[in-house]
Amino acid sequence: MNVISKEVELPGGFFLGAGAVASRVVGINAEFMPIVLTEAEGRPAVNGSYFSCINPVDGQCLQEKYSDKFSDCHFGLMANLYACEGKPGKVIEVLAKKRTGDQSLVTALRKALENHYPDKSLALGGTFVIQKGKAKIHIMPREFSACPLNTNDEVNNWLKHFEVCAPLICQSVLVSKDPGLDLRIEHTHIFSHHGEGGHYYIDTTPDIVEYVGYFMPAEYVYRIDRPKETHAVGRD
Ligand SMILES: [Zn+2]
Repeated sequence: MNVISKEVELPGGFFLGAGAVASRVVGINAEFMPIVLTEAEGRPAVNGSYFSCINPVDGQCLQEKYSDKFSDCHFGLMANLYACEGKPGKVIEVLAKKRTGDQSLVTALRKALENHYPDKSLALGGTFVIQKGKAKIHIMPREFSACPLNTNDEVNNWLKHFEVCAPLICQSVLVSKDPGLDLRIEHTHIFSHHGEGGHYYIDTTPDIVEYVGYFMPAEYVYRIDRPKETHAVGRD
């Protein structure tokens, strides 16, 4: 995270988003909910992140505070991060209740931006709370797959899926349209204060669901460490 903050020309900046833990630090594969104020001159990083993994005892979700176990700011595999100066200011408030379509809140936001600005690529980052209802999530297994996962079906069969209950705090990074950077166009991770967390798909209670969220449009999009060879698996 500290390296990334310098790469995006915001040393000491605040980061949130969705990613995976560094398995060489944590010892297993796990979902990561980064909330980090990166290090600055005279001040160490402040890490308020969460991570969730499969509990080896019962196969259920195990969410923990990252700083209770680890003191570093690493992540692994990939992350979609929203970076800012961490200062107060105007933001976009999104209030929604009752889902009438089959798109998640994040996909609906993304499609709305795409439809309204068809020629542009707009990125948003922020946090929203699912105040009522339930949501579908996945958590990666503790071990990496022994064989390559070549299709979305193979990835989905490898992932563990759960239904989790409100109140849920969600961190989202989305871009209305890939500006040619080979991006994952949306990525949202959930944590909670009751021990449930993971990768958000959609609410499962459309009739009663309620959302409140706060987002900021991005000034710049950075693509760091872009792979030379790409694929179309698990991109939204
Ligand atoms: Zn994820």
